[in-house]
Amino acid sequence: MSDRLARNSIDGGRVIYAVDTHKVSSLRFPTFWFEPTPQGLFMLQVAFGQSKYYSDNLSDNIKRGVRQKVRRGEWLNLAPFGYQNNPRIRNIEPHPTNSKIVIRAYEEYAKGTHSFVSLAHFLTDLGVVTKNGTPLAKVSIKRLLTHRAYLGFVKHGDEWFDGNFEPIVSPQLFETVQKVLKEKERPRKRKIKHDFPFVGIFRCGECSGMISAQWTTNRHGTKYRYYRCSKKRGRCSQPYVREEELVEQLRARLQTISLPERYTKWMLSKVKEWEREETSASQSEVQNLSENIKTAEAKMEKLVSTYLDGDIPKQTYLKKKDEILLASAVLEQKKKDFENGRKKWVEPLREWILDTKQADFLAKSDNFHEIKTFVQKIGTNPLVRDKSVRFEFSPPSHFAAKRRGVLRSAAATRPRGAILSNREVSIAESKGFEP
Ligand SMILES: [Zn+2]
Repeated sequence: MSDRLARNSIDGGRVIYAVDTHKVSSLRFPTFWFEPTPQGLFMLQVAFGQSKYYSDNLSDNIKRGVRQKVRRGEWLNLAPFGYQNNPRIRNIEPHPTNSKIVIRAYEEYAKGTHSFVSLAHFLTDLGVVTKNGTPLAKVSIKRLLTHRAYLGFVKHGDEWFDGNFEPIVSPQLFETVQKVLKEKERPRKRKIKHDFPFVGIFRCGECSGMISAQWTTNRHGTKYRYYRCSKKRGRCSQPYVREEELVEQLRARLQTISLPERYTKWMLSKVKEWEREETSASQSEVQNLSENIKTAEAKMEKLVSTYLDGDIPKQTYLKKKDEILLASAVLEQKKKDFENGRKKWVEPLREWILDTKQADFLAKSDNFHEIKTFVQKIGTNPLVRDKSVRFEFSPPSHFAAKRRGVLRSAAATRPRGAILSNREVSIAESKGFEP
């Protein structure tokens, strides 16, 4: 499909530019064509989303080489506290004393009576201090209590892999500590003194200071909320803006990226349909992989018990164990790729549709807090200058905003509220969802 056409955002941008300047009135891809209608817009979003997914997959494949190393369970950097590097085995192993200290620290913290500071003092007594001889900082304590290397895992990027070295902390103890951490980290309730919904999102367009707010009473005694530059960065000539003015402008901007409900309804049902199709296609594959993973697990169990019974030598055991682990890791990755593949294009697409729907709703809403949250989500670099709000939409919404001019007129000629009938829809087939 449009994989080659929209390989990167520049190409995608060129296409959009060409459409904007009326150089292209409709785009033809092998599996669908684009016309400046809501359906066409929708399909173009799908196409660009899909291309991005396949490009992402490409770079994933390159990273895979590094991952192989990690899959062998090698710790590639300096050993974390509690371990020591052993160049002979090109890996890490528990340090005879420090590993015990790690366990003690976990056991202490699991009691639930310690703060990070008191645990730092506890460790000071055991001789664990910074280079300067002071107790460890809170951040170091937190790292110590959450480091999954102690479970025997190796990190690469955002993923953890089975390490080929001995764990120090048992999974149960680790879990208990994570629970205690979570308990203690629950945010304390903050008192909200003033209710200024749009504080904290805008910067001043002149001096880049934060925009703050205040109540002002006019000469008739009516109270208003005003927003203004905090002027903490020196001289700035920007005037005040009334909250109502600000909101009016935001609503108008939101209107530009909104689509009427009958379109979003149709789009959402289409996405659901594709999702179902793809799910059933990949289900049998995933099931197949799951079965293979189970087989590998069973093999592993059998191997461990054979080794424990003393029926095979350690060397054979380790070699076999590595083989099985590697094979399972590959299977797990395959399964994940299958599951992610769907999420990677369906979810952003659905989110974009929901955003256009939400924009439509908020363009008429009086819920200022919701408007603020939404603007924060879809807008970048919001500014106020000369009493006007300025911000860019982030890519998918930006795209919709640019196409929106064409859509309004098309949408206005149809009765509102009803879902589109298939007769009205002239997009191409959805069967082109392969690279
Ligand atoms: Zn300013």
